[in-house]
Order: sequence, then C-alpha cells, then structure tokens
Amino acid sequence: MAGNTWIIANWKSNKNIAEALDWVSKVGPQIPKNENLKVVVCPTFTCLEEVKKAITVSNFPLMVGSQDLSPYSEGSYTGEEAGRILKDVIELSLLGHSERRKNFGETDEMVSNKVKQALDNNIIPLVCVQDENVSVPEGCKLVAYEPVWAIGSGTPDTPENDQQIAQVLKSKYGDIEVLCGGSVNSGNIKSFVSQPDISGALIGGASLNADEFIKILKEL
Ligand code: PEP
Repeated sequence: MAGNTWIIANWKSNKNIAEALDWVSKVGPQIPKNENLKVVVCPTFTCLEEVKKAITVSNFPLMVGSQDLSPYSEGSYTGEEAGRILKDVIELSLLGHSERRKNFGETDEMVSNKVKQALDNNIIPLVCVQDENVSVPEGCKLVAYEPVWAIGSGTPDTPENDQQIAQVLKSKYGDIEVLCGGSVNSGNIKSFVSQPDISGALIGGASLNADEFIKILKEL
C-alpha cells in the first residue's frame, strides 16, 4: 500500500447505539494494523461517544468521524454541534455531502465555514464534491468525489472516470488526497483503489453491514 488508503463508513441516519456497538465489536478486530490504512466510521451524533469509548477500550485502529459540524463556533446556535465540543470524540468530519446540500440547503459558503471550524479544532475536514467544478475550501486536504447519480443507486462511476476527476482536482488544488464514492462495495473497491490518484473510498450503504465492510477491507 503506497500512500494512504482511506476507507470511510458513512452510516447516514442509520443505527442506534446498540447496533453501532455491535458493528464496532465485529469490524474492529478485523482491521489490519497498517499505518497507511485509515479506517473511519461516521455514526449518528448520539452514537459518537459510545463508539469512541468502545474503540478506545479495545484499541482498534479505527477513527471516529461526524457526518457534519457547525459552521459556527460554540454559542447560541440551537441544534448545532460545534467543532470545539465534537473534537472530544472525533478526528474527522464529513462536510458538504450532497444529501446535506440537497435536503438542508447547504451552500459552498457554509461548507467553507465548516471547514474553517474543523481546522480550528484540529479535526480533519473531508469535503464531498459532486463534480470537479464544486469548490474545495482552502485548507481542506481530503476530498471525496461522489456524483449524485451514483449515490445509493447501485451504479458507480467508472474507476477510469474517477481517476480522471481525481487528476483534475489535484491539478486545481495541489496537495490533496481524493477519495471516490457512490455505490462502492466489496465487489468493486479494488478497481477504484488501484487507480493511481484515488486514495480510498467513502462508503454509505455497503458500510452498514459489518460482514460486507470486513469484505471490503479484505479486498485492499
Ligand atoms: C455516500 O452517501 O457517501 C455514499 C457513498 O453512499 P452509497 O455508498 O450508499 O452510494
């Protein structure tokens, strides 16, 4: 494995605490200890603390990420989760997902403010872009290219197209790592991560089942 490979589980609005802990207990022991392999799980907010505790107690090589983060610092922002508070339990935050842009009116400006809050609190921002023209905020070094039509559809983009988009993003933004996403699973992960400019994958549906996620890890 030359360079980092990121495998990031985005559970979206799925799994309660018991289900989350069951997944961690099954997947945790199966993650190879390799400093270039960065495995991250992004549960719902209510599961973050319990998941973090379970990982820490067993010393699993698994990072915890949030699926969002407030564009503001802490204060009078009802319902928001500020970076300074989240940093107790997360190392990464998933920002600008197309589901947030579409369903919650998230704009490039909001994503940019979220990235700033993440960086101010030593949280790694992972920004999702839906095509090569969506802007990557300054300071963000980890980007997931996820065409909207590929998400949850069972029809991923081709590895060759992802590779091309990754090259374009790198030529625009320089020193960044590009992940792919959209219907990635154990049957196709290898074809994506074998592309020279793809540094891993953001995985939604296929990350929910522990056995399928373990299969994905075994394919690397
Ligand atoms: C996602 O929503 O980030 C995603 C990649 O979903 P799926 O794997 O289910 O297409």
